[in-house]
Amino acid sequence: MARVLLELNFPPSLHGDLCEAVDLELEPTESEQFSAVRGRGDPRMRGRVLTAYEYQCAFGGYDGRIGTLPVGLEAAHVRWWAFDGPDDVGNGLCLCSLHHKLFDKGVLGIGDSHRILVSQRFVGHSPAAREHVIALAGRPSIGPQPGASPVAAVHRSWHTSQVFHGSPRPAPAA
Ligand SMILES: [Zn+2]
Repeated sequence: MARVLLELNFPPSLHGDLCEAVDLELEPTESEQFSAVRGRGDPRMRGRVLTAYEYQCAFGGYDGRIGTLPVGLEAAHVRWWAFDGPDDVGNGLCLCSLHHKLFDKGVLGIGDSHRILVSQRFVGHSPAAREHVIALAGRPSIGPQPGASPVAAVHRSWHTSQVFHGSPRPAPAA
């Protein structure tokens, strides 16, 4: 039952956090089998989105690889798959693991002119938190390459109204 609720209501990147928050242990193998049975999403979406964004995080520009394999890069759904978000490049963003998590948690969003939104609810005083999150406020997102679909306005506004929390921070003074 818990698995059904998770699959139907939340993106996979949040499943672990939610289980932890309610002290629930799911057997990972069962959960994986369940995902396979449900046929969640189109497995080709990841490759299409990562190619469109040239294997670079659309928020921070991270582009790490091990040898030739990208590492720590993911295809995020802007409108969640659980809420009828299509498996299209126009509903996807290539994000590093950190920015994907913060995007799904509503700390980060994507606003008009594809500028990055950072919630005022996010707090972090370290130089790392400032550099990797707070400093992104108001910056244009990176990509996709010419000819690939940018995030559709309808999916951006779904995310801003349904997922993004609080008010966006103003862009830091230069
Ligand atoms: Zn990133």
